[in-house]
Amino acid sequence: GSYYAFCSILVEGDLQTEKLGAVLQRIIRRHEILRTNFQTLPGMRIPLQVITDNAKHLISEYEFRGLGLAEQVTKLQLLCREKSRQTFDLERGSLFDISLVTLDAKKYLLLICLPALCADRSTLESLVQEIIHDYAAWLYRQELSDESQPLQYADLAEWQNELFEGEEAKLGREYWRQRKDIMAFANCQLNFANPTTLKSDFKPELFNLCFPAKKVFELAAIANEHDVSISVLLQTCWHILLWRLTKNADMTIGTYCDGRNYEEIESALGLFSKFLPVHCHLEDEFKFSEVLKQIGEIIDETFKWQDSFAWDQIGEFSKKIPETSFFDICFEFEEQSDFHSATDISFAIDKQYVCFDRFKVKLSCVRNSSGLLTELHYDSSLFQVGVIERLAEQFHILLESVISKPEAAIGQLEILSDRDRDQLLIEFNQTQTEYPPNKCIHALFETQANNNPNQIAVVFENQQLTYAELNIRANQLAHYLQKLGVGPEVLVGLYVERSLELIVGLLGILKAGGAYLPLDPTLPQESVAFRLQDAQVAVLLSQQQLIELLPESKTRWVCLDSQWNAIAQESGANLSREVEAENLAYVLFTSGSTGKPKGVAVEHRQLLSYTNAITEKLELSVCKSFATVSTVAADLGNTVIFPALCQGGCLHVISPERVSNPEALADYFSRHAIDCLKIVPSHLAALLTASKPEKILPQRRLILGGEVCSWNLIERIQSYAPNCLIFNHYGPTEATVGVLTYPISAIPPLTPFQQGETVPIGRPIANTQIYLLDTYLQPVPMGVPGEVYIGGAGLARGYFNRPELTQERFIPNPFNHSKFKVQSSKLYRTGDLARYLPDGNIEFLGR
Ligand code: AMP
Ligand code: MG
Repeated sequence: GSYYAFCSILVEGDLQTEKLGAVLQRIIRRHEILRTNFQTLPGMRIPLQVITDNAKHLISEYEFRGLGLAEQVTKLQLLCREKSRQTFDLERGSLFDISLVTLDAKKYLLLICLPALCADRSTLESLVQEIIHDYAAWLYRQELSDESQPLQYADLAEWQNELFEGEEAKLGREYWRQRKDIMAFANCQLNFANPTTLKSDFKPELFNLCFPAKKVFELAAIANEHDVSISVLLQTCWHILLWRLTKNADMTIGTYCDGRNYEEIESALGLFSKFLPVHCHLEDEFKFSEVLKQIGEIIDETFKWQDSFAWDQIGEFSKKIPETSFFDICFEFEEQSDFHSATDISFAIDKQYVCFDRFKVKLSCVRNSSGLLTELHYDSSLFQVGVIERLAEQFHILLESVISKPEAAIGQLEILSDRDRDQLLIEFNQTQTEYPPNKCIHALFETQANNNPNQIAVVFENQQLTYAELNIRANQLAHYLQKLGVGPEVLVGLYVERSLELIVGLLGILKAGGAYLPLDPTLPQESVAFRLQDAQVAVLLSQQQLIELLPESKTRWVCLDSQWNAIAQESGANLSREVEAENLAYVLFTSGSTGKPKGVAVEHRQLLSYTNAITEKLELSVCKSFATVSTVAADLGNTVIFPALCQGGCLHVISPERVSNPEALADYFSRHAIDCLKIVPSHLAALLTASKPEKILPQRRLILGGEVCSWNLIERIQSYAPNCLIFNHYGPTEATVGVLTYPISAIPPLTPFQQGETVPIGRPIANTQIYLLDTYLQPVPMGVPGEVYIGGAGLARGYFNRPELTQERFIPNPFNHSKFKVQSSKLYRTGDLARYLPDGNIEFLGR
């Protein structure tokens, strides 16, 4: 039903309808293909063309005279729809459907519809020409001799077959056999389509957009200047657009060919058209003018061998099921001539639609006097109309960009409309939020210690400290450290097992005005030594059993356990402020994928901004108890540590033995109610092997982050803890812990328009901007993979003592906007790839 040829012909003048009927009957008598059926005889695989003699053909007549214009238009649309949706009875029915609609005294529409087996675009055009010619001849009372019998489709088909198999076509067949590689790119991944796993029906739909005549003229001039046709130029742009959207550097586009390479068949009726494979390899820095020339040459060469191209000729494709033997992407161009006139009566093609082969998306450009009609034909089982509308719009932007800079590199041509740009750069990044003025992070803790002195602040196994006790200990340590010279911008190593001392140490360093550099006790000793040396750590806080293992080093150290008595001599009072929000809070080493580890330097204001933003975004204030199960040598754990201590919550530091033991952890969690847990998905998956996995999960908030998360894991979690809200959280250390969050409400339904394989990473937190950019630092359109760049309040100061590296990864921000509360002069380049989903959430795609 999807494959048919339809056209409507506007007839203006004194039409004599019976005469038109006679003219049509005569045409039908002349052409066998117009009175043909297709019958599959018993035992035959391929149907036969059966030519019938029933010359009497019915023309349906419709009277729309006297109706208002609007009603006429509606009724016409309905009629055209009905005509084009009809299912032909190929075996016995009449396959040439003709209707005449009277619109006015001197205005008619002639509607013609045939199955694509009988007609293509050229057939329709020839038919119209023939109608005009015969009608005019009748007007002038010229005798029409029946002697000039046209060539019949059956004979031409046989002749073509002979040619195809004959000696002369051998070269052509050989050519295509050698080019079978290009067929590999005929079916390509269209990442902006809906990922459908089911093999779907073909449901073609159409979306139109007009390109103004004045600009078409400019395009024609560019084509002319480069010695190619406008059709080649349009196809080149189509190719470039799809490459930009899909990132497939190699693509093969099915290019329309009327199949009438011989003079004898130029005006023959019947299906001769086909799509020919035009393959091209594209790269960012290729110049448009060069690609134009190249595609022009490829098309010339392809068309030279048009007669010998057929899917079943090309090696492995002959074995494929016919449903996959089509080009995903197609291109057609048509030059529409205006009015055909037969003296005082005129005939003009009004609308035309032909679909003779399957596609996923096909651009059909029709040029006429009023401009360029760009029709996007698409398989609606794969694309939503919104996606296609955007595609059409992008095509027009690209054409305009070509007009303004035909010499540009193809990676630099514009494809985004202003509206799209605003959405990507501004709308999605409207995260401005007012927070109390910048303070130091430990000041927030001190407020809690003051307001809730007897609240439990931290628990480790069977030990615990209230807010007042923790504050006093941290203050004693801070005073002690200040005497050792610790102050703003001084680094203090924190080489401590997971314990109460860890939290005392961390707060003590901050309160002394210094910045902490956490070192994981499981790190090899050389790595610890390297970091101490590289960061020029002034003092190292540790524990007796750890320090004994360290090799000799010049770094001064203090043991929080064995030396505590000395520390406890110090005052327990809060320290007077000399540290500012712009001072360093911590330096974290990240291994990075290559090269030596680098220290990321984070200031108080970034940590504060993160703590405020994440507390608000995930509504962590509903949580009373928090558990930290990851190393403090990564910033992962900061998602719970600081929100807990800054809002008066209870922080459970889980012992090293328990964090990797499902039963032991389940035991702890069943004795202590935990509201909020942040954990890496693979860590959680390993813990869910516990005999009672539901015990591992928190009551209210589960925050997953640090790596990709699968829907599969979510499904399991939800079955164990249906009332716990789950969030995916993404971010690099360089932008302070995390910048994107995605609340998981439900498993996405399995609709054809379902989302990707992994859980999205969502949208930016407060005062944060996310940009997905291409290699030219231009935003990529929705759905297209781009590199993640981050701007905003969480951006780290840079790498510690690595100015070149800082300059390389923290680049000047070209997208500042007055609407954003925090103007960040830099963007951090993550090296991660991601894309926007249709709803504005971001999906992580890897590195
Ligand atoms: P780090 O700087 O060590 O925290 O590592 C940050 C990197 O981990 C990011 O650049 C991502 O490649 C990856 N990552 C972090 N969170 C997620 C997440 N939720 N989903 C996928 N990858 C993540
Ligand atoms: Mg991190």
